[in-house]
Amino acid sequence: MAITDKIYVKNHRQLASQLETSFPKSAFSGATLDILFSGDGIAKLDDASRDRVLEFAEDFLDCDCQGHPHCGCPERKFVSYLLELREQGFSPEAIVDVMGDDYMLYAYPGDVLSFLDDSVRTLEAAERLADVDGRTKAGDEISRRRRDLSR
Ligand SMILES: [Zn+2]
Repeated sequence: MAITDKIYVKNHRQLASQLETSFPKSAFSGATLDILFSGDGIAKLDDASRDRVLEFAEDFLDCDCQGHPHCGCPERKFVSYLLELREQGFSPEAIVDVMGDDYMLYAYPGDVLSFLDDSVRTLEAAERLADVDGRTKAGDEISRRRRDLSR
């Protein structure tokens, strides 16, 4: 399962009752993207929740793909967001706190940690491939990103 399958909406029940409809707890589930993040119901949310929901839509659902918002861009952008937080030195626990403050989302720190470990391993593999191919510049760049992630 991808990390984006393990990101949940905080105050899920409260939001569903404000919207007078149900949607899955998982933030990136198709129905949640439709109902909570791009639905007309947004006006029914209390101010604080609406701000966060709009913020999320602006930051991750801003593409013009035909299949929007089911085109994969929101997931890709969210993964970059997580990696950027890590590169800024945030621990998995702190990353969970930040996504809560920014977008009213939560995840289990253990899931974030395994995602980060997997990302480092993926970069290590890419680094080895670049070395084998003699692509030193690419290898150096990957190595730099990997070190930023594993601080
Ligand atoms: Zn897209």
